[in-house]
Amino acid sequence: MAKKVVIVGGVAGGASAATRLRRLDETMEIVLFERGEYISFATCGLPYYVGGVIAKRRSLLVQTPAVMKKRYNLDIRTMNEVRRILPAEKQVEVCDLRDGRTYLESYDYLILSPGAEPAVPDIPGINLPNVFTVRNVSDGDRLKEYIETEEPVSAVVVGGGFIGLEMAEALRLKGVAVTVVEADRQLMGVLDPEMAAIVQKYLQEKGVGVVLRDRLTALEGISRVEKLILESGREIPAEMVVLAIGVKPEVRLAVEAGLAIGVTGGIQVDEYMRTSDPFIYAVGDAVQVKHFVTGQAVLIPLAGPANRQGRLVADNIAASPVKYKGTLGTAIVKIMDLTVAVTGANEKTLKRAGIEHLACYTHPDNHAAYYPGSRQMSIKLLFSPGEGKILGAQVVGYQGVDKCIDVLATAIRAKMNVYDLQDLELAYAPPFSSAKSPVNMLGYVASNILRKEVEAVRWEQVEQLLAGSNVLVDVRTAKELEKNGAVAGALNIPLDELRDRLAEIPEDREVLTYCQAGQRSYIANRILRQKGYKVKNISGGYRSYLAQRMISPRKIN
Ligand code: FAD
Repeated sequence: MAKKVVIVGGVAGGASAATRLRRLDETMEIVLFERGEYISFATCGLPYYVGGVIAKRRSLLVQTPAVMKKRYNLDIRTMNEVRRILPAEKQVEVCDLRDGRTYLESYDYLILSPGAEPAVPDIPGINLPNVFTVRNVSDGDRLKEYIETEEPVSAVVVGGGFIGLEMAEALRLKGVAVTVVEADRQLMGVLDPEMAAIVQKYLQEKGVGVVLRDRLTALEGISRVEKLILESGREIPAEMVVLAIGVKPEVRLAVEAGLAIGVTGGIQVDEYMRTSDPFIYAVGDAVQVKHFVTGQAVLIPLAGPANRQGRLVADNIAASPVKYKGTLGTAIVKIMDLTVAVTGANEKTLKRAGIEHLACYTHPDNHAAYYPGSRQMSIKLLFSPGEGKILGAQVVGYQGVDKCIDVLATAIRAKMNVYDLQDLELAYAPPFSSAKSPVNMLGYVASNILRKEVEAVRWEQVEQLLAGSNVLVDVRTAKELEKNGAVAGALNIPLDELRDRLAEIPEDREVLTYCQAGQRSYIANRILRQKGYKVKNISGGYRSYLAQRMISPRKIN
């Protein structure tokens, strides 16, 4: 007899599972429940719709139930909410939200892809009408309508993660003055603080207010929010508030059905994405997954993993078993002209997990510097001290960030090490990259460190090193110092004059070198070392110094 599969949730994971199931099995009965009006809509496009970059609402509706039904012969029931799972009977209880009718539906296999809901703090004023969350098309409609009819001049986005910053951009595009309030000491928790500092500086230069280390405690206003009250007592007037403080996996159905829940609060699944009930699978934002690098249990609410897991579960039900190998957390965001991307583990996570690691920074041009329009990006690479296995990367820049992070994500997945990065043969012509691409360069820098050709230190170590009798040498040109600034107390000897001015560097002192991005100071290191000096190179140069100084202003200088 043909199998019957019931799916809860009709967007990323659910729709992927449904269509793959049909492609694998023409006879299967596939029922897709979605409590909202739409299936397969572009959640990720919502900020761009609000900001007007995506002009037509219908562009968000990637697939309509009618088209999906016709092409895939699916039984799609929108406005139908699954209220209960009866695992013993292999049935779900469903409420048709249009008429309130409740009915039972049986299944052979059940797939849960209910997603995650925006976290909403329980604070005074939270239900006022000009407080918004962003999850689905109707949230997008509400936001757009409010902005267009009420024409607010100021908004506060609470939460400085991906969605918060995308919404900050959207509001700016609509001419609204924006302040981002973040409880953490940095924006974008997926980045390490010194990389997040680059994003913060950029936002502030673009006129976006940034408030860190302060938590929203109340919203005040009579019929709508007029001001936000923060934990510090600070008050911020605003005509609208967008909450983007994170998401919580939707696990109510799973909990009530007695399915195992993991330590992170997500639905626990095995490597086949099967829950503790062998006839129930779960995918997407609602599940706890294994981090590909750390092996730890994590929640990583991203569209790519949700889609891939949906497809994999369909394979597991209708074809041969496939294992899910874990999630890397590869993600990217556009904030005005800036692009920020991450993959693998960040340093905070590695420290917490007790995983030994080294880090290096580079600031390469996205393409040949002589070809017009090149822009520098900042890359942080994390790798293991022994074999140089790549553990994670963070990239902040303009063009080319997406390409760089995707290569690095592929490298992590392929379990490559930093030496492998040197060998990658990547596409090059001056408008696109450099003959030594940013990824090759990362490989060179990291493997120089591993081979001990250079001893790298980080700016956060410099204060302590200078407390000894070390000498700091800036090898940039005088012109650059004038333009960009310098570290107080540094001796300036431009690289090209170094061989002639060695006498100025005391031989009995350890030397720390830096330049603008780290490359020329590396050359200086090689010269000094061969002249008998004890020398260290400060990774990432003056650009990394500026980022580091933002997070620990009193440390150096
Ligand atoms: P969802 O896509 O959320 O689908 C779950 C669906 O299940 C919902 O429509 C819900 O109504 C329905 N449902 C829940 N419970 C029931 C029930 N009991 N009965 C019936 N239906 C039910 N990820 C990226 O990788 N890149 C991005 O750029 C990106 N941008 C984003 C921007 C925004 C504003 C948001 C909110 C998210 C973004 N994401 C992004 C995250 C991405 O959208 C999610 O990771 C992905 O949609 C998760 O898929 P899912 O199937 O688990 O859940």
